[in-house]
Amino acid sequence: MADQQKRSNQHIVTRMVQANGAIDPQTGGVVPPIQSSTTFARNADYSLISPNHLYARDDDDLVRLGEDILAKAENAEAGLLFPSGMAAIAAVMRTVPNRGTIILQTQIYWGTTKWVRDFCKRREITLLEIECSDNETLSAAIVANKPDLVFVETPSNPWLRITDITKAAELTQAAGGKLVVDSTAASPVLSNPLSFGADIVMHSATKAINGHSDVLAGFLATNDAQSAMWQAIAMDRHDAGAVLGSFEAWLLIRGMRTLPLRMERMCENAMLVAKFLEAHPKVEAVLYPGLKSHPSHDLAVKQMPNGFGPLLSFLVKGSAKDALEVCAKLETFKRATSLGGVESLVEHRHSVEGNATGVPENLIRLSVGIEHIDDLIGDLKEALS
Ligand code: PLP
Repeated sequence: MADQQKRSNQHIVTRMVQANGAIDPQTGGVVPPIQSSTTFARNADYSLISPNHLYARDDDDLVRLGEDILAKAENAEAGLLFPSGMAAIAAVMRTVPNRGTIILQTQIYWGTTKWVRDFCKRREITLLEIECSDNETLSAAIVANKPDLVFVETPSNPWLRITDITKAAELTQAAGGKLVVDSTAASPVLSNPLSFGADIVMHSATKAINGHSDVLAGFLATNDAQSAMWQAIAMDRHDAGAVLGSFEAWLLIRGMRTLPLRMERMCENAMLVAKFLEAHPKVEAVLYPGLKSHPSHDLAVKQMPNGFGPLLSFLVKGSAKDALEVCAKLETFKRATSLGGVESLVEHRHSVEGNATGVPENLIRLSVGIEHIDDLIGDLKEALS
């Protein structure tokens, strides 16, 4: 109990490094073991041998530990892990009734947009794609449509737009809806959307939370675990079975131990890369909330007090061909989708999305990793030469 009290006063970095103090109770191992059993034995009187262990779908200790670490990092009352970020998003969207209304931020992660468009069609849900980082546009859309759910992504991927979470929460809740924030690009180390009033925060834990590009996982957290929405999400996860495996949870916990440290280096590197690109004659614009030139820099400072994250985009002067040539010349930055891993990645989003979301042909998205900064800037210098 005293230990628990002490832990709850510790800094997030200490709690994450020590996986909330997890020690294997049987061996004293400082790394918790993988629980591979899917089912758990009962006593002769049919009572469970361990009251918290009935069947693996909801009774995996590592999944519970991962949820606890992440919920604490988000200052949340409750958290749920999912087998991917998309599974977490789908669980949220399924709480909206047939013929309800969803406001979805425009120009966010393409996989979210694509799935939500299809889902809304099937369920006869009115879908409004709105630029939520613009307070006036968002306000008008909410007042006119009284949505059941508003889903924003901040910083957004790949545009790096910043939505005012406090404002969006006030507007959404005043209209009787719920605000869900995809905070993947920030991670719980850089921003805690629930503290700004969001109803639910969502992460693709595949990205920075795991950080090693070897686990798919998703996470949701709330400060209103008794709400009908959260109860429906928890029931849906259990009954529909979108659960994370024990091995994945183990890897995730291992990755999370270094999240604060990795994030520190990624933010440092990303800022230096952004400044280098901003000064480069072949670059038309750099989209990074850490730059003073970013239109929402002041808001980003408020919402992301510990740094601006690993994700940035830039527009090369010229056409798709010029942008693809830069991507082709990069060597340290690997040409691959995703973000938030220890290794730096580059992505030509227009090659993936086409014209579906209006991503410019000359936009290059970078996920800046933890390599030596000289190697990253040297690689970009050569590719742009
Ligand atoms: N949200 C954002 C911002 C993403 O970038 C991604 C994936 O790239 C997702 C959600 C989906 O997560 P996952 O790939 O874990 O399903």
